[in-house]
Amino acid sequence: RAYNFNAGPAALPLEVLERAQAEFVDFRESGMSIMEMSHRGVIYESVHNEAQERLLSLFGNPEGYKVLFLQGGASTQFAMIPMNFISAGQVGSYVMSGSWADKAYKEAKLAGGAHVAASSEDKSFLAIPDLKSIQAADNAAYLHVTSNETIEGTQYAEFPDSGSIPLIGDMSSDILSRSFDINKFGLIYAGAQKNLGPSGVTVVIAKEEMIAESPSNIPTILRYSTHYNNNSLYNTPPSYSIYMVNEVLKWIGEQGGLAGVESKNRDKAGLLYNTIDGSDGYYRGVAEQGSRSIMNVTFRMQSEDAEKQFVKAAEKEGFIGLKGHRSVGGLRASIYNAVPYENIKVLVDFMNHFRQTQG
Ligand code: PLP
Repeated sequence: RAYNFNAGPAALPLEVLERAQAEFVDFRESGMSIMEMSHRGVIYESVHNEAQERLLSLFGNPEGYKVLFLQGGASTQFAMIPMNFISAGQVGSYVMSGSWADKAYKEAKLAGGAHVAASSEDKSFLAIPDLKSIQAADNAAYLHVTSNETIEGTQYAEFPDSGSIPLIGDMSSDILSRSFDINKFGLIYAGAQKNLGPSGVTVVIAKEEMIAESPSNIPTILRYSTHYNNNSLYNTPPSYSIYMVNEVLKWIGEQGGLAGVESKNRDKAGLLYNTIDGSDGYYRGVAEQGSRSIMNVTFRMQSEDAEKQFVKAAEKEGFIGLKGHRSVGGLRASIYNAVPYENIKVLVDFMNHFRQTQG
């Protein structure tokens, strides 16, 4: 297997891939692959419902929440959120923490109205804005945060209190990587392709009161209520992706749930950041200490040329995806749930060896 440090689509647990392979052609002795089955049939529906139940159970079965399986990626949520929640005279308040928050904010500007609740642009988005600086607008329909900025490599250590307005979180790149109190949020969403499974399905977990009714002047397919009222079976769902999400959720349960994966993730990130910090400046962490992500570790070297050499040498050794996002450059190791500790160990050995031989 490759040492996969891709930002997304990203590594999946080997056990999950192998189990899926074993039942790929003949699912539960039906004589069919699950991807050949009707989404209205008993077998598929049981997988669909099981995946929703598992997800809520990993979050401690919070009262009054519903899971939706949608399509169009987290990017479609950037548009659906303002379309569904912003009424006349209101805005969505956004915490501007980096590239993905900016994309979400720009969609709200088009689809309702957007307000900046706080920003770390003055720090080139290399830190999460100070929670104390976050101020939602008086006419805000919600406060939106991006829990982990995949490109800059920053992550909220704690989430702000949004008072009486709903808190909405884009958790695309750190969902199910750590424990947090979901009750703080009115709605969270994530494209599946990092910590949840393959691309093609977007998971939304929301308070039922937020999604049971939606404006009737927006397209049917873009109303949360359409999917809420039809148990995410209004139209054909991405059934194979949802099946895979269910398998990944089982695997997370086997890892000890959120507490189990969090402890592993903290060990992995700790090993990598310690290697960066202990390299006498040969490697330099990009994000500010208090905002460092445990999912996307961004770092730089003394020159772009050195970084190019590093990526080239790494590729030769079987490391995939270490080049930083094209918009910011540098280097990035994405170490989602499925990346084992041993792979980080191999990476830091490579980094130390590279420093000793090239430095
Ligand atoms: N939000 C974050 C934090 C992301 O990392 C990504 C993709 O990398 C997106 C949103 C966009 O997701 P999608 O490609 O599913 O639309």
